[in-house]
Amino acid sequence: MAKDYYNILGIQRGTSQEEIKKAYKKLAKKYHPDISKETDAEQKFKDVQHAYSVLGDEQKRRNYDQFGEQSERFGQGGFQGFGGEGFDFSDIFEQFGGGGFGDIFGQGRRGPRRGEDIIVKLSLSFEEAAFGIKKEIEVDRIEECDNCKGSGAKPGTKIVTCSTCNGSGMEKQIRRTFLGTIATQTTCRKCKGQGESVDDPCPVCSGSGREHKKKKISITIPAGIDSGNHLRLRDQGNEGEKGAVKGDLITVIFVEPHEVFKRDGFDIFMELPVSFSEAALGNEIAVPTLKGKAKLKVPSGTQSGTLFKMKEKGIQKLQRKDFGDQYVRVIVKTPEKMSKKMKKTLEELQAEEKIQSERKGFFGKLKGIFD
Ligand SMILES: [Zn+2]
Ligand SMILES: [Zn+2]
Repeated sequence: MAKDYYNILGIQRGTSQEEIKKAYKKLAKKYHPDISKETDAEQKFKDVQHAYSVLGDEQKRRNYDQFGEQSERFGQGGFQGFGGEGFDFSDIFEQFGGGGFGDIFGQGRRGPRRGEDIIVKLSLSFEEAAFGIKKEIEVDRIEECDNCKGSGAKPGTKIVTCSTCNGSGMEKQIRRTFLGTIATQTTCRKCKGQGESVDDPCPVCSGSGREHKKKKISITIPAGIDSGNHLRLRDQGNEGEKGAVKGDLITVIFVEPHEVFKRDGFDIFMELPVSFSEAALGNEIAVPTLKGKAKLKVPSGTQSGTLFKMKEKGIQKLQRKDFGDQYVRVIVKTPEKMSKKMKKTLEELQAEEKIQSERKGFFGKLKGIFD
């Protein structure tokens, strides 16, 4: 049996969006696989997520209320819609013809098409992504035509009932098939289902009621965002057909690499060159962090390649208050150009060292090679 999304969230049909959100948050917490001890928590969590993905979206919820689970197969045009797959709501329509069908599908015609989503790529510097920032981007989007205020009619002229469909928005077509003559109803081609038509179209938008405009949109980027994350701004996409909702603006984030830091999730990695003597004797070394210099204690006898962790010096976790860590890998630099004094000191050092005998012990197992 099909699952009822309202039942899953434990709410009534007419519940407000706010209540839906509340119910969702409560259940998502309850069934979160990291928290819940229930054996089927994961499945329940998924069900809750899915129910909310539908009921939490005004447009999807309306579709669901009308058409049930089926509605999700229709898509909504735009980004994930069916449009791209050559499938259209009106196609289903034609197969069924008129009569009866109209009752199931509300008005008996394809609703006005939702505006398309706009997808933009946004590059951020390493720091911008780490700290978050407000960015203004310019998008070229379809908006309501200023000249006709979206009506499609030349200002001062009248909008009249469509003469082809008499305002029904549907057009009857008679087709001859091997089964005989079939009358089908399709969306009226003249008024595109609007039921009204314009005698004198607006010269700016040619009657579409929509026009391309460049628009500056301010986007708040949260701290901790990373490459591949995306931000969805509801209703900031293209204008839909008359009476339909707007599309969304989806910003896909790309974070530029940093000269010193490398990022892994919310942790930062870097390499720190230290001198031979610093590694041997130990030192307190100033290292760069996202929040300025910080001291790292390199203890005496540190080997090249040792990784040190600087707690909470990484990137703020997305939508959280805590931070990742910074990892510093020590690279011991062997001196290449030496002064006479350095050379002499190192020669004295070499005389003191026990490395010869240490190596002998180390390779001792390889009899015959190192005797
Ligand atoms: Zn018409
Ligand atoms: Zn216009």
